[in-house]
Amino acid sequence: MENLIDIEHKVMFQTYKRFPIVIKKAEGSTIWDNEGNEYLDFLAGIAVNALGHTHPKIIEAITNQAKKYMHVSNYFYQEPQILLAEKLVVMTSFDRVFFTNSGSEAMEGAIKLIRRYSQDKQKTEIIAFSGGFHGRTYGALSIMDKPHYKDKMGPFLEGTKIIEHNNIAALRDNINDKTAAVVLEFLQGEGGIVEPTTEFVSVLKELKDKYDFLLVADEIQCGVGRTGKFFGFENFNIQPDIVTMAKGIGGGLPLGVILAKEKLKDVWQKGNHGTTYGGNALACAAGMVVLNELEAGVMNNVEEVGGYLKSKLQEMKLKYPNLVTEVRGRGLMLGLVLSFDASILVEALLKAGIISNAASGNILRIVPPLVLKKEEAEIFIIKLSIALSKMQ
Ligand code: PMP
Repeated sequence: MENLIDIEHKVMFQTYKRFPIVIKKAEGSTIWDNEGNEYLDFLAGIAVNALGHTHPKIIEAITNQAKKYMHVSNYFYQEPQILLAEKLVVMTSFDRVFFTNSGSEAMEGAIKLIRRYSQDKQKTEIIAFSGGFHGRTYGALSIMDKPHYKDKMGPFLEGTKIIEHNNIAALRDNINDKTAAVVLEFLQGEGGIVEPTTEFVSVLKELKDKYDFLLVADEIQCGVGRTGKFFGFENFNIQPDIVTMAKGIGGGLPLGVILAKEKLKDVWQKGNHGTTYGGNALACAAGMVVLNELEAGVMNNVEEVGGYLKSKLQEMKLKYPNLVTEVRGRGLMLGLVLSFDASILVEALLKAGIISNAASGNILRIVPPLVLKKEEAEIFIIKLSIALSKMQ
């Protein structure tokens, strides 16, 4: 039989820069390829597999649900969807839930929600920040500055503006009565594990009180326990009106969420917004397991193992100051800022049996499953140290 990788090269759009491996199976934080190689997974399906791979409780939940029904559409009331929505409302400071299939779709919905809420108030502008990532659809791309993702694909949405991240003067210059919403990742993922500064957030809060715009937290990557708190924004003293989630919440199944405060509950009337698959019964059954496990102690694990990893990465910075210039992030969303192209380190780590990823050129992004064990973190640190020592 022809090699799978060769077939992929012939029949698929070549949009992805893939690892040169075909995955055979995965369990917990371990992945095995078709050639019998074993890897520790420090990418977790791009910050998705919160409970690791093939978690027995997720398998049980989706198997049980699959035997009842998998898809019936949103013309019907469905238990897994309603119970998950209720759980999210109970667990968080938000009151209304809309389910989607992906992060981008949650962002599109959030943009529509902003527009409909703000139109009569003559508030027309949505502001977002450099380095942010919100998805590959038009609305999401319109609030991003990444040229490579947008090149020759315009025109984009009007009434959007991207200003410099962490620049307080830019906030003051651009936010005014016309501002409908500000969209922010409280820990940028694709942008290279970058947090807003406390001062930046406090000025944002001051301006929010003054101009009454909607604050949208894109928690698609930094939410669902990844920073050690359920939401990334909880590391700051501010309350968003809308939150978008995806990735971790589905535990490996495609699921996105828009959460909103009660004041937005009537913005959408019947038929104003919808989706065929969003809130799919299997995805919601998996989502419930993720939330239950987070409550049962996974978030403590994030703090503990994440704290250990961060302290070891800091040692790495002292040991290899010419290679590692900074350690960033929180919980199990960490970034190692390198003085060279991170893809070189990603390749070296792959050879050593570690799957990792480069973000924003020179940053090694570390986003393992939230259930990563301390022993696994130790192996990572040893292999990372060996890889860096060879690069000295
Ligand atoms: N927002 C953030 C912060 C993300 O990290 C991503 C995905 N990397 C998205 C939105 C888009 O999500 P999706 O790929 O599920 O559409």
